[in-house]
Amino acid sequence: MQVRRSGPYVALSLKHSLRVFQPHRELKSHAFLLIALAACAQQRPVVLPPVQMAAIDTSLNAGAPHAVFETQRDDPFATTNRIDWPGPNRYRSSAGVPGPDYWQQRADYTISASLDTGTTELAGSVQITYTNNSPDTLRYVWVQADQNLYRTGSKGSALFPADSRWGVRGFQGGYTFSDVRVNGTSVQPRINDTMMRLDLPTPLLPRGGKATIAIKYSFRVPEHGSDRMGRDSSLYEMAQWYPRMAVYDDVRGWNTDPYLGQGEFYLEYGDFDYSVTVPAGYVVAGSGVLQNPEEVLTAEQRRRLASAAKNSAVIPVITQAEAAAAKIQRVAGTKTWRFRARNVHDVAWAGAPDFRWDATSWNGILMQSYYQFPKSGKAWEQAAEQTQWTIRQYSELFFQYPYPQATSVAGPVGGMEYPMFVMVGYGSDDPASIFGTVNHEHGHEWFPMIVGSNERRYAWMDEGINTYLNAFANEARYPGQSAYPGYLRNWATAVASGTQSPLMTAPDDIDPSALGAIGYRKPALVLLTLRNHVVGAEFFDRAFRDYIRAWAFKHPTPGDFFRSIENGTGEDLSWFWRSFFYTTDVLDIGIDNVAMQSSEGQNFVKISLHRLTSVPFPVHFRVAYADGTTEDFSLPVNIWARGNRFDAVVAARAKVTGVRLWPDPSVPDWNPANDTWGNPPPAKAPGPVTR
Ligand SMILES: [Zn+2]
Repeated sequence: MQVRRSGPYVALSLKHSLRVFQPHRELKSHAFLLIALAACAQQRPVVLPPVQMAAIDTSLNAGAPHAVFETQRDDPFATTNRIDWPGPNRYRSSAGVPGPDYWQQRADYTISASLDTGTTELAGSVQITYTNNSPDTLRYVWVQADQNLYRTGSKGSALFPADSRWGVRGFQGGYTFSDVRVNGTSVQPRINDTMMRLDLPTPLLPRGGKATIAIKYSFRVPEHGSDRMGRDSSLYEMAQWYPRMAVYDDVRGWNTDPYLGQGEFYLEYGDFDYSVTVPAGYVVAGSGVLQNPEEVLTAEQRRRLASAAKNSAVIPVITQAEAAAAKIQRVAGTKTWRFRARNVHDVAWAGAPDFRWDATSWNGILMQSYYQFPKSGKAWEQAAEQTQWTIRQYSELFFQYPYPQATSVAGPVGGMEYPMFVMVGYGSDDPASIFGTVNHEHGHEWFPMIVGSNERRYAWMDEGINTYLNAFANEARYPGQSAYPGYLRNWATAVASGTQSPLMTAPDDIDPSALGAIGYRKPALVLLTLRNHVVGAEFFDRAFRDYIRAWAFKHPTPGDFFRSIENGTGEDLSWFWRSFFYTTDVLDIGIDNVAMQSSEGQNFVKISLHRLTSVPFPVHFRVAYADGTTEDFSLPVNIWARGNRFDAVVAARAKVTGVRLWPDPSVPDWNPANDTWGNPPPAKAPGPVTR
């Protein structure tokens, strides 16, 4: 009861903070918590009791059902996800940057694996040097065993139908672990679905203690690996292919959310040395830099690659004729490809005997595409250029790409991102058939590869923010197009079908049919709205770049993002996060009435505004005067602090003949029918939203 009265932010902070207390710092944290709660309570704008939704039309399209506004679905407490916006502390500062005592763990990997294409089995060994930078002594660690999703009876196989995108399609696989050691001592792994607990023979000391974890493992490669890995005849796309350290952080301790299918990953940064042994005729593409080109490439291939590394034009490293010849050639034996990747949280790779391979470069970064032709579609002949263009765009707009290469591979996986390496589905002859996915997947190099958020908890922090970036790239690639209508339509579909959940919902708990809306397009659209109509591009762009810089190669939480944007833009945006991230409500502000007034010879117009949902918003309106001119006005969000009605009284230079809310039409007001009065002035023509 008390929780309800004190309001969601306070209550959730409390709920969260209690769970993450470490006994030895509990007293200190308590003090911080109380300060945070007090500050939180004072700064929060007054929030109105919810309006009766059933009485009004909030649908974008007439006739849409109102079921989505049922009380329970609107209530973030009713969902199973927890909301992590704790009070600031020494680890995460109140300004949304890492605090003076920020720490994160480190995991360095050496992996050697071999692929048997006859049995479709991968067998390998991994050695993980795990560094405990936390202030805590660890007596056990958790390791991710993602292949166990394909074990009969896994949680994910129960949750997602076998024939769905994340479903296992009847395949029976999973990890076999044959030898697990910590610091050379054999340990018994304890498996909990896709997570594995290893009890350490000796405690791992805080602030720099190291443990070496060595695991021998094997698994059968699923044909359909939840659209994140898999194989198609001779082509293998390999990811989640070695046991990976779970993240231990200051927010939740061990992050042990299982891999269910729809939720993605949360991993520690480190350096990787990995080698894969494949049939001798195979060509392997992977994260990182190839370490032994003289052992696996011909002299001519190495010469072409060296030339591409200095050239902005696309150079074939393996031509179509060479790929076609390789397809029918049988080569006995195996070859081992060695790669090294620094400062990444994962590595993935792909292999096939008949790849075409194109390469080009920009700014010292090698861009590569690998595809089986003609199966991939002619579009793939543009993939190296599309990769180069994408990496350059995001580098110039947001943050310089920090890695030496970027690779796109064509295959059965529709679209999936790994450090320096993305998988994109086959295309048609039209270059546009793959551009959106090439661009989107490489956008992930910034979120979550550079900015390492917890994807398994917050789709909006990687997919949503990435989709925000994609709007900039798409509008630049196709001038005159707007990202806005498509994003809005997708969100509106989820609203109309009643499948919405708050953006804070963990991805595995989002209705699969609404994943595109809730994970991707609504967050992208509300961030565009925040930038363009609340804080302004100049402030937002600066704050957003600061957020990337502050959290590059680190683990930000939602609260860190919110604080970072508020600090950088100088705005209290509690109302914005609350409305668009913690509820499923939509914006609907309308005009009830317009009246002329005069006082001491000055004419005024009184515009009676009505907020019909729980979502406040700064109001922009344009008035039309009898003399044919127009004038624009803006009101701050504070007008909604005292009620859901507000009379805006502004000086009018002539008789007002019409009024229009949102003269810029890219404000997602759900009900345009109440946005105008009289003979409204025209709105700005729809257009790009990333200028
Ligand atoms: Zn994505």
